Amino acid sequence: MMDRHFYGKVVIRGKIKALTGLHIGSQRDVSEIGGIDNPVIKDPHTGLPYIPGSSLKGKLRSLFEVFTNSKLDEWKEKYPALKNYSSGSCRPLNEENCGRFFNKRINRGWIHVCPDYSTAINCPVCRLFGASGKESNFPSRLIVRDAFLTKEWEDRWRAGEEVTEAKIEVGIDRVTSQANPRTNERVVAGAEFDFEIIYNVEDLNQWEDDMKNLLTAMTLLEDSYLGGSGSRGYGKVKFSFETFEFRSADYYRTGEEGEKIAIPVGEKQVIDVLKDFDGLFSGVKEKLGAG
Ligand SMILES: [Zn+2]
Repeated sequence: MMDRHFYGKVVIRGKIKALTGLHIGSQRDVSEIGGIDNPVIKDPHTGLPYIPGSSLKGKLRSLFEVFTNSKLDEWKEKYPALKNYSSGSCRPLNEENCGRFFNKRINRGWIHVCPDYSTAINCPVCRLFGASGKESNFPSRLIVRDAFLTKEWEDRWRAGEEVTEAKIEVGIDRVTSQANPRTNERVVAGAEFDFEIIYNVEDLNQWEDDMKNLLTAMTLLEDSYLGGSGSRGYGKVKFSFETFEFRSADYYRTGEEGEKIAIPVGEKQVIDVLKDFDGLFSGVKEKLGAG
């Protein structure tokens, strides 16, 4: 049965810095003559590259799915939905929902999705990132906005600095040994984007775990990659926080400043926020009380 509540939001704002060239492709496959084979996705209004919220959220989810698949046995008591699954993916020829954790086929790979609301609410992946099942949907508790270039980088671009570069990648045809150069466009290393991630507090017993799981996914991403060609060194990113705050349900009624609680993360790295979680979130815990 669906029973949704709203206790407030955690709003996280900061910067994502590309430490290496970053390629998030656009859908366009047609190459222009003498042009770039593989352009990056750009905001049609400004022509500037950006990170779609769906790409960022999708990557966080897929990293956290793999993490959860490795924790299935350990986490079965804490997250009862995991009792429904054994580790791994369905065999390629089998139907979906075979009882393995990776139970839904997308293109040539497998992903995890709980089939209905009542399972998803007890699954660490689906209750955070959402699940669209056959029977019922579980809406995501997470909103990940598109991340646009920071004002500083936009100004640099206006002043004539390039924010993307063309990188030639030579693929070798394994049969003919013929070199097959392609031009990849990528955002230059050093570029920074403003990100915003919003988490809806819907369950007093689950928000802390959800928040820790989100921070875990962000930490995993820093040691993985965003976008394409990660194995060639593209897409190493780093998060930094600017504001990290809890806004109570009453804040959305009264606008009272006292209904906002700053989580004092300062210059902390993502992993250090996890490490000091109890201290940093003590004000929020007090406000929300025990579940
Ligand atoms: Zn699930």
